[in-house]
Amino acid sequence: MQLYALDEQIPILAQDASRKKIYQCPECVSPVQVRGGPHRQLHYFHIRKNSHCRQHSKSIAHLKIQLHLKSLIPTATLEKSFPSIGRIADVAWEEKKIVFEIQCSPISKEEVESRCKDYERAGYTPVWVLYVKRFNKRNLTAAEDFLRKRPCFFADGFKIYDQFEILHRGKRLLKGPPLTVQPHKPLQAIPVVEHPPLAVSTRSWPISFQGDLLHRLSEGALSHLKYLEKKFTKYSQVSRWRSICREFFYHLLAKLTH
Ligand SMILES: [Zn+2]
Repeated sequence: MQLYALDEQIPILAQDASRKKIYQCPECVSPVQVRGGPHRQLHYFHIRKNSHCRQHSKSIAHLKIQLHLKSLIPTATLEKSFPSIGRIADVAWEEKKIVFEIQCSPISKEEVESRCKDYERAGYTPVWVLYVKRFNKRNLTAAEDFLRKRPCFFADGFKIYDQFEILHRGKRLLKGPPLTVQPHKPLQAIPVVEHPPLAVSTRSWPISFQGDLLHRLSEGALSHLKYLEKKFTKYSQVSRWRSICREFFYHLLAKLTH
């Protein structure tokens, strides 16, 4: 469903659009118009069918996250076209050279890898936002496993968050509480954590944001997390141990969530 279009380069939400006016699709630049009513959410439709345009196939969840990022970063561009690499970024923050890629549907590892490479080639850092209805389950897909080593957060409605987690052989053994991240506040320098737990040392993030796991660990100085993480992975098969450890982890991680 397409919820916004451009009016002379200014994004207009379908709910604010005039039914009589013709707008422009931000992706394929074709003319679009608004429709809908009491029983159907207002949305834009392409006056002439365009089979290449992905706008109509975007889910409400995708659009909500996109608009949420735009509200946090008013100078960001939605559906920014990168002709040199043949990509359209969901949200591009040109000043900081960051693109946010919102993922609400299944995706292959090859596709995420090639998108990452393309944006890096264009001089941008891709930051992934994975929708929790699809991701953050016990079993990791190859794409998610790849992305967790990259700048990547989860989104649930209007909350964008990071988390402490213990991953082992494609399984998520432990999921900590959501740590709200400020995607509009990238840090000047990557925080330093002494004796980092695997949950962060396996990441190769060229960027860090206020509130993300690394930032919180650098302020919380929980150096013993590394030790606990190792124990937990070792004894995760023993259910009594697992529940004791889990509680302990939550107790510790609760300190990070403030
Ligand atoms: Zn279009």
